[in-house]
Amino acid sequence: MHESDSVPVTSRAELLRLAGTFPWLPPLEVGTGWAALLWDMAEDLEDLFGRSALIEGRAGLHEIRARHGCLRIAGSKPAGWEPRQEEGLRVILGRAEERAACTCERCGRRGTTAVHNGRWTTLCIWHHAAAAERARRPGSPLRGV
Ligand SMILES: [Zn+2]
Repeated sequence: MHESDSVPVTSRAELLRLAGTFPWLPPLEVGTGWAALLWDMAEDLEDLFGRSALIEGRAGLHEIRARHGCLRIAGSKPAGWEPRQEEGLRVILGRAEERAACTCERCGRRGTTAVHNGRWTTLCIWHHAAAAERARRPGSPLRGV
């Protein structure tokens, strides 16, 4: 399965572009494959709250990270919003988490969650194969997919 090593990975620049376009996002500790779904999430949040409110931190987002192959968005409950907006926030974040659960963290293709080297990761079939092959090599590090 050597062709798996040549499967393209979304460039790291995608995450930088995302963070630059939406400067109100908290630090993004995720794989580049999730950049597109986070981009959609950020656009939906700007539609719902308005950019200036987000820059003021009023959506209460503190952290966006990959954990056990899932997207985790941590934050405090935002105060002073209409019920419509609170519900909208839940729906938008929930949708991003659902999409991440079936999106390869490395390339953005359709993915499934499985364990490699004791670590849960969501990957497409090519990146699962690449990760499994890497795990078989002697001296492979415990971290990294
Ligand atoms: Zn992939």
